[in-house]
Amino acid sequence: MRYFSTRGGTDAATASEAVVSGIAGGGGLFAPETIPLAVDSSGSLNGLIASDYRELAVKIMRPYLSGFTGAELAECAAAYSYGDGFDDPDIAPLVRAGGSDCFFLELFHGKTLAFKDMALSMLPALMRIAAGKTGRENKILILAATSGDTGKAALEYFADKAGFEIAVFFPEDGVSAIQKKQMTTQRGGNTFAAGIKGNFDDAQNGVKQMFVNERLRNDLLSAGYELTSANSINVGRLLPQIVYYFYAYSQMVNKFGLRAGDKINFTVPTGNFGNILAAYYAKKMGLPVNRLVCASNVNNVLCEFFNTGVYDRNREFYRTASPSMDILISSNLERFLYHLAGSRVAGLMAALKESGSFRYGGLTDEIAGYYATEEETMSGIKQMWDEGYLIDTHTSVAYGCYKKYTAETRDASPNVVVATASPYKFAKDVCFAISGEETEADAFAAMDELSRLTGTPVPKALNGLAGMEERHATVCGTDEMEDILRRRYL
Ligand SMILES: *Cc1c(COP(=O)(O)O)cnc(C)c1O
Repeated sequence: MRYFSTRGGTDAATASEAVVSGIAGGGGLFAPETIPLAVDSSGSLNGLIASDYRELAVKIMRPYLSGFTGAELAECAAAYSYGDGFDDPDIAPLVRAGGSDCFFLELFHGKTLAFKDMALSMLPALMRIAAGKTGRENKILILAATSGDTGKAALEYFADKAGFEIAVFFPEDGVSAIQKKQMTTQRGGNTFAAGIKGNFDDAQNGVKQMFVNERLRNDLLSAGYELTSANSINVGRLLPQIVYYFYAYSQMVNKFGLRAGDKINFTVPTGNFGNILAAYYAKKMGLPVNRLVCASNVNNVLCEFFNTGVYDRNREFYRTASPSMDILISSNLERFLYHLAGSRVAGLMAALKESGSFRYGGLTDEIAGYYATEEETMSGIKQMWDEGYLIDTHTSVAYGCYKKYTAETRDASPNVVVATASPYKFAKDVCFAISGEETEADAFAAMDELSRLTGTPVPKALNGLAGMEERHATVCGTDEMEDILRRRYL
């Protein structure tokens, strides 16, 4: 399997090169030249449905990672371990709630309680092996912009890993208090986190600028560092995310009696378009999927795009109760467009850069765009809790979109809502949604409040967080990010 830049050019990269470099030439992203089929010649999913999570991860990722041996893939998949890594033996359990045809795929059972754990738990092994294959001997400096969850997951899984340094930039006022504290208290001699004065788009833009800054890259190289990304612009993030869509399907068959081959829908709470892009890859690999519902909060730029073909970031930016989706420049949409429009993507991206918008006329109806308001997000949490199932704000955005989608289309396919974070990461808003009263409690006391209200335990990973020592206090302007990097690593 070879990888090409979404911005064109004929230089192919190997899988290992794509993972280690993170970003492709011309500011583009690496995309696989084809999306391989995972079903056998008769369209049968049998071998996949019988697999446990690790076996499935190896089978799904293998065709994308040419050059990796079975043993190396198994080493990556070993990240999915119950006990020291994930707190559920199913790794990504599927739960029925909110109607007989509605299911929730819980992707928050890893160490940092959000779906980013699904890929970042594996990324250190994947990158170390990939770096070996490309003959790189430098240390790898991982740079990440985060809307809250990627940053913590990247810090956590790369902390004290030999051969890696990790630096994370988050919007100082654009993440939840718990997300921020998770990052600022991160241990590990090779970790660094800084708040920036700006929103996630500013952070992502600043990081992307550094990637294409040849002078900075060369200076870092001379100092012994190879720069790469832990954001979903890295294919190493995307590939492990495909696995859980297959796993959700196999649980539908094994636990809930779906007939193998019948189609289901997925509703995915979307920000940077990484998670739903993985779902799209799963569909293209032969997973029986009818529709994908792209769920936005009131920053509904993607919803509008799927309804009109116009992507327009010139709009007000809202801070919402689902901060990990407060994004107006959705990086991975570029990969989706590349698979549809090929070399025309470069022009669309140039228009986006120039005027903040573009129009694309070739959309198919494979992805439907919906959005949920803040009120709908809150009432969805309340409604689900009245039925005894606790969801976080991001998951509730998706649940609200699922309901709108079924009301409008009458599509009766079973639906899987992708549940992306533990409600405890957003305890204050979740408490408010359930009790109808603003709590006086700060974010940390709100975790206990939520536990009291619902009789559910505070997850171990968040216990004691309030009292932990802050180790990363830097706050900077977006124009200072490069300086900070230079001071720290050069
Ligand atoms: C990152 C994140 C999202 C958005 O995922 P994308 O891959 O950026 O679309 C949704 N919910 C939560 C909780 C997240 O952390």
